[in-house]
Amino acid sequence: MMKKIELHLHLDGSLNPSFASKLLNRNVSKEMIGSHSASLAEYLEKFQLPIELLQEEKNIEEFSYLLAKELEQDEVIYAEVRFCPLFHMKKISIEQVVSSMLSGFKKVPSVKINLIFCMMRNFSFEDNKKIIDFTEKYLHHGVCGIDLAGDEAHYPTKDFEKLFSIIKEKKIPFTIHAGEADGASSVEEAISFGAKRIGHGIHSIDSKEVIQKLVDQQIVLEICPTSNLDTKSIKDMASHPIKKLVDRGVLVTVNTDNRTVSNTNLEKEYQLLQETFHFTEEDFLTFNLNAIDAAFLSEKEKEELRCQLLQN
Ligand SMILES: [Zn+2]
Repeated sequence: MMKKIELHLHLDGSLNPSFASKLLNRNVSKEMIGSHSASLAEYLEKFQLPIELLQEEKNIEEFSYLLAKELEQDEVIYAEVRFCPLFHMKKISIEQVVSSMLSGFKKVPSVKINLIFCMMRNFSFEDNKKIIDFTEKYLHHGVCGIDLAGDEAHYPTKDFEKLFSIIKEKKIPFTIHAGEADGASSVEEAISFGAKRIGHGIHSIDSKEVIQKLVDQQIVLEICPTSNLDTKSIKDMASHPIKKLVDRGVLVTVNTDNRTVSNTNLEKEYQLLQETFHFTEEDFLTFNLNAIDAAFLSEKEKEELRCQLLQN
């Protein structure tokens, strides 16, 4: 096992199934897994139950703690955990949502965790603007950046230009889910907004121009292999473009996306990639160093992580 960095991980897709089952008084482990979804839209339906379970401080704290424990077992030393704050504010305030998550994470001090707030593609401009305001409020206080998530095929990236110009103006670090269910043009739009990181971005492989832009601007892809298979973004692991992207000079990182919905962890993802594409330990070290370079952290924090990663 090696130490790892994870940049692309959704809290609501990574809830501990045993604790969820305990709360609901029935075994929900199977229904939390989305491996047999027909599309990204169907995979996203698996998030309904977790969202219902994350409405009270004590549950949020416990699920956050259990996720941090799982990251520790997976030898993750730094993770950026994302979620959409508006989904969890039916009964409690943003202060309570953030503080209960952070206090859950703090119980596992060996893993450093920052939060990323997700805007949602199906939300109104006003609701997404609220999420930008929340991010600004908590930036450097447990929150490190913002993202755009949701059904990409039905809500194209180009419609979010105005929101990203506000984010840039406020100098908030951001990443964008793009080129997952939608094509290379979605990645191109994300690049035109100034994204330095792209969630997935696997369909970049269909455009030489987009690949060139990723390489020239040193944009980092947050690749999530099993999730891509589950959402039918690829037909099988052998046809995943990760190896081609690496060979063409694109900077990639390896992530789980959703540990519960995709029934995976980073150790399994590394194993799968090693078996399919024969990546070496050195390759995985490079992917982790890419992740540190792209993390929403200060230079000093990045240097500390590099030292930690390279220590035996
Ligand atoms: Zn994602």
